[in-house]
Amino acid sequence: MKSWTSRPVPELPGSMPQLRLFDTAVGGVVDVERQAEQSMYVCGITPYDATHMGHAASYVAFDLLNRAWRDAGVRVSYVQNVTDIDDPLLERATATGVDWRELAQSQIELFHSDMDALNVLAPDHYIGAVEAIPDIVPAIEQLLADGVAYRVHGTDGEPDGDVYYDVETAGKRSDATDAWTLGDVSGLGETEMLSLFAERGGDPARSGKRNALDPLLWRVARDGEPNWPGATLGDGRPGWHIECTVIAQKHLPEPFTVQGGGSDLIFPHHEMGAGHAYSLSGIPLARHYAHAGMVGLDGEKMSKSKGNLVLVSKLRAAGEEPAAIRLAILANHYRADWSWTEETFESAKSRLARWREARDQAPAGSAAGLVAAMRRELANDLNAPGAIAAIDQWAVEALDNNSEASALDSAIISDAVSALLGVEL
Ligand code: ZN
Repeated sequence: MKSWTSRPVPELPGSMPQLRLFDTAVGGVVDVERQAEQSMYVCGITPYDATHMGHAASYVAFDLLNRAWRDAGVRVSYVQNVTDIDDPLLERATATGVDWRELAQSQIELFHSDMDALNVLAPDHYIGAVEAIPDIVPAIEQLLADGVAYRVHGTDGEPDGDVYYDVETAGKRSDATDAWTLGDVSGLGETEMLSLFAERGGDPARSGKRNALDPLLWRVARDGEPNWPGATLGDGRPGWHIECTVIAQKHLPEPFTVQGGGSDLIFPHHEMGAGHAYSLSGIPLARHYAHAGMVGLDGEKMSKSKGNLVLVSKLRAAGEEPAAIRLAILANHYRADWSWTEETFESAKSRLARWREARDQAPAGSAAGLVAAMRRELANDLNAPGAIAAIDQWAVEALDNNSEASALDSAIISDAVSALLGVEL
């Protein structure tokens, strides 16, 4: 699937120091080992709704990581999926009387224009679930053949043949220290897992499952639902976790460096993806698991049902500058849960205006120190608020500057804010 187009990233003198990142699976900040090429998979949208601030914040967070790696002089291989077939998409299409393909297409286009406006670098591979089905089917067949997946008999009018992943058997398959067992990524206990599984698209009560937490791999065809050829699985459509696993394994090294997404993807999505990958290849899916916090509105959880979604496209349509939206997001640490308020947005807009004014008065010789400070902050678990504070401090001094402004320093600072934070002054 076609992705959006990245804007150029200016080159800066010097480079990013050793990067440290909070790894959810470890529960602490770790060194990200240096490699000539780093690789990242960030879970994409299910295209049934426009990009709200929570999505935007998550993609901006991993864009910081992408930019930090590039600044360190390494190549970055970045893959993102789009779940262009899944229950929420079909439910929304039915509820609104729109063809699911048209709904998906329109929301994918809107997402791309939001990402482009927010200056998020595009993935190298942007892969839809539907186009990945020919790769997903043999993976599920392999899991069945290996005894870590099973078919469920239909009851209550359901057809026979839905395929589930056996979390218990899979977790006992290998004694290797890097082998996956349930809970390795999320660190959660069974009670928490059960409640999150039900809340986030799982079906703990489905009869015939061996373990309530076993996730769906393949849903055989039902009347009125789209389906695709599944070879020995029968016609149907894939589950969500296996979709990301297969796309990542096909387009990225094994293991790849960072699996990213919002913190609501830790369980079951990233937990199960890690399991599927290990069952398929005997190699961990990713070296590190990183997660962005959730964004609310005025202190409340943002959700479609509450009708309180802040949409990037709506702000843009109202004439708001995307760079100010991005700066408002970056004023919060990516791991924090935070709330969008009119006040935070107003303060981002005035900050952006102040930085622009200061840039035109950049004192000679002030750029090198500021760029080093920004890099120090960003290398420390992508601390954008720290980098912003360093620029604020520099701006105070620049605005006090009575000597002639330096065009060279002004250019370096514009480049640094653009290259490292993705904010164009
Ligand atoms: Zn995913």
